[in-house]
Amino acid sequence: MSFVPMTTLMRHAQDHHYAVGYFEAWNVESLLAVVDAAEDLNSPIIIGFSGMFVDNPARRRPEDIYHYGALGKRVAERAKVPVALLLNEADHLPILVNGLKAGFNAVMYVKEHATLEHLVEVNQYLVQTAHYCEAAVEAELGELPTADVATGKMSSGSLTDPDQAAWFVKETGVDALAVAIGNVHLLEGAKSGVDFKLLQELRRKVPVPLVLHGGTGVAPADFAKVIDLGIAKVNVGTVLKRVFINTLKQQLGADVSKVDPHDLVGRGGPADVLMAAREAMSREVAGFLRLFRSENQAFKV
Ligand SMILES: [Zn+2]
Repeated sequence: MSFVPMTTLMRHAQDHHYAVGYFEAWNVESLLAVVDAAEDLNSPIIIGFSGMFVDNPARRRPEDIYHYGALGKRVAERAKVPVALLLNEADHLPILVNGLKAGFNAVMYVKEHATLEHLVEVNQYLVQTAHYCEAAVEAELGELPTADVATGKMSSGSLTDPDQAAWFVKETGVDALAVAIGNVHLLEGAKSGVDFKLLQELRRKVPVPLVLHGGTGVAPADFAKVIDLGIAKVNVGTVLKRVFINTLKQQLGADVSKVDPHDLVGRGGPADVLMAAREAMSREVAGFLRLFRSENQAFKV
């Protein structure tokens, strides 16, 4: 259908009591898996990549954000549903500015243990730059704890303070605010305890759409409640990677030495491991879209 501003999608979601999903991709198959699910269910959607992953200094070969921007934007433009393209959670500015030039229409800066002054300064700059490019800025206030996926251990975080959040949004002009209300980054197993009262107060005081990160760790039953209380966008990443990897392992677990390699990668048929992973991930995304109540909202945006 179209490449649309992230603010349009979030405002529509907020006004119509559902949440728009952001499902983080890392390659072509994962990006298309998200769009497959959105098209199957007629859901508006936010696709994108992690700034910290693309820009990870430990990469054996550096990635070019222009490739990701061009790919994402074209996929969005060609989709049958409204799509926004987010460069999520980058921890330094150059990649975000280049991301805007590369075609992303939404960006988000994060920095571990950043001072409030730093976040205000960076987001003021980013809002000016992004708005000039007709793109949106999401920011995060408070700090989500992060789970170590391998050990299950969690770092400490801090909840979002409603008064500070209201002040921050006014001071910076950001278009959306990610809140820390008991949600956890990279947590598996739906173990986050969401503070609904805090969410209610944040919704009352903060004038922009609110975002919940760490969707993997939220109990399915809690989504209806957080959406009713004003969450307009939910981020999901970890579980998608888990499903993708598990499917690859399963598909490759059998003896593949005698199989035509073209059938395993590239042909897109029933033996294609990447197609199997894409389809499995797409089913997972569809499950979330139903929980977010965004099914059949695409044509109403
Ligand atoms: Zn996040």
